[in-house]
Amino acid sequence: MARHTADIVIIGAGIMGLSIAHQITRRSDLRVVVLEKGAGLGEGSTGGSAAITRQRYSRPENIRVSRDANRVFAAWAEFTGLVTPRAEYHRSGVLWMMGQSDEEVRADTARLRAEGVDAVMIDAAELRERFPALSPCYEPFDLTGEEPHECRDGEAFLLELDSGYFDATAALEDLAEAVRGAGADLRIRTAVTDVVTEGARVRGVVTSTGSRIDAGTVINAAGPWCNTINRMAGLELTWQLVPTRVQIVYRDLPPEVPRPIPVVGDASTGIYFRPESAGQQLIMGSVLEEDELEEADPDTYNRAADRAFIDTKIHALHHRIPGLPHRGMPRGMAGMYTINRQDVHPIIGPTPVEGFVVANGFSGHGFKESPMVGSMVAQWLTGERASFDTDVPMSFYSIDREPLVTADKNVLA
Ligand SMILES: Cc1cc2nc3c(=O)[nH]c(=O)nc-3n(C[C@H](O)[C@H](O)[C@H](O)COP(=O)(O)OP(=O)(O)OC[C@H]3O[C@@H](n4cnc5c(N)ncnc54)[C@H](O)[C@@H]3O)c2cc1C
Repeated sequence: MARHTADIVIIGAGIMGLSIAHQITRRSDLRVVVLEKGAGLGEGSTGGSAAITRQRYSRPENIRVSRDANRVFAAWAEFTGLVTPRAEYHRSGVLWMMGQSDEEVRADTARLRAEGVDAVMIDAAELRERFPALSPCYEPFDLTGEEPHECRDGEAFLLELDSGYFDATAALEDLAEAVRGAGADLRIRTAVTDVVTEGARVRGVVTSTGSRIDAGTVINAAGPWCNTINRMAGLELTWQLVPTRVQIVYRDLPPEVPRPIPVVGDASTGIYFRPESAGQQLIMGSVLEEDELEEADPDTYNRAADRAFIDTKIHALHHRIPGLPHRGMPRGMAGMYTINRQDVHPIIGPTPVEGFVVANGFSGHGFKESPMVGSMVAQWLTGERASFDTDVPMSFYSIDREPLVTADKNVLA
């Protein structure tokens, strides 16, 4: 068996693996190898990600992580060091239509502003002015179509002005270019088939190409495959990390629908949506726990969306955008993310297997958190700080923590 050495092996070239590699290489000369089993980039969670960068979370630390990441996305060329990066940040704003009272939205807005988020409260008149396509209705809407519905304007809405969405696949390509440019060895079509340990210490990995890579640090950034890698390392976790199938619907957005359309979180029907494809389409997903479908095997899940899911969510979308023509066939797809069942937040950092590090269980938060995950792990491994770093310590997500207490125990957490 061919034998190589590295300082750090990262398993998985999703947004976490590449972000961690990027941040290590920009602040050290450590020899980093990133191993990706896919035939290309984006075959895991990241490839299907809506990449929304909202900042409204119930915990201040999560707000700050998103806030700091939004600053990175807005300065992507400088951050990656690429002259013409492929990924583009769309600062569309994120509008929350959560059925809250005026008082509740005011308190929520103040909470976000205290953490440095540019959040404002708007009423129905301002909502119509800013986003003429959107209905300000707050009445719960029956998706079966059986209950009669009369729209009634909500009192107040929260708008994050400095949030939006990114392009997940293009971000992977940018980071791949950046890490390769910085000297990291990124190998595609190379699966880790074993993690080598000696006693309670990691020694390296074995790959599907028949080689062994010796390394003192091995990082599990394998997304929904994380449990397989943890088992290879002999790591037993009390955290329950569950690969979960989630669906997305695409709907054409013809020119007669007035722009702009922000990212919208809509509690009346449990959907979120945002513009896609240079504003020619909308993509929509669900924020409901019942739509998070546990799946055992990230290699064999059904990647098509269920017809029933598409049909129901389309009703919800037309309720929020009444002028959206009922034209053409909406399409869908399914992706997969990993939910930490105990508190819906990731585990990041060292483990009892010395040298074996995890960055797992990101649920629907991972894309926006990724630059700061890279920052935390790289800061801890190299001892070097960088200008874009977050002040939230990696220990906030440590595997030794108590489950975080959050307002919701779903993707909104
Ligand atoms: C439909 C959908 C919508 C989402 N929307 C949002 C959103 O709006 N905002 C947001 O912040 N987040 C969102 N997310 C969540 C976010 O995309 C994920 O949390 C994030 O992409 C996780 O990245 P990752 O690198 O951990 O995992 P992945 O992208 O899955 O990367 C893991 C990689 O590891 C590789 N791998 C696995 N096993 C091995 C092995 N043995 N050897 C080598 N390589 C291996 C896989 O091939 C994969 O490429 C969404 C996710 C989905 C599915």
